[in-house]
Amino acid sequence: MGTKTYYAGQDVDAPCGRCGCETRHQVLTITNGVPEQLICANCRSVHKFRAPRPVPEPRTPQLPASAKTPAAPRSGGSASLYQQLVAQEQGGARALPYAISIRWEEGAWMDHPSFGLGRVQRRLGRKVDVLFKDGLKTLVSA
Ligand SMILES: [Zn+2]
Repeated sequence: MGTKTYYAGQDVDAPCGRCGCETRHQVLTITNGVPEQLICANCRSVHKFRAPRPVPEPRTPQLPASAKTPAAPRSGGSASLYQQLVAQEQGGARALPYAISIRWEEGAWMDHPSFGLGRVQRRLGRKVDVLFKDGLKTLVSA
């Protein structure tokens, strides 16, 4: 805005507490080059000079901290083990279509209609834990 020079009797726009808004004022007294007392042209009240409110800077909306940093893809866990096993054992080539009638043994590969390619990790009675891309699932086995 630069340096503004004031003088007594000058018309300035200033916020008026009584009017509740910025109104035209006349400078009554000046101290050290800054208006001290003003008289409101609207309500004729005399009050201290308050610098006009600076134009508020456009604020960039503050994003929550969590939104700034995208969740890092989890490394390790069953996903990478799954990828490892598919590559090592060529699961895609060995997989049999899943059927409840098949007796699935550990290390067998299946092609499940819902879960996709999976490797039998553990057999427990008539159930098998199968590692799929989405994680470990328990399926019924013959
Ligand atoms: Zn006023």
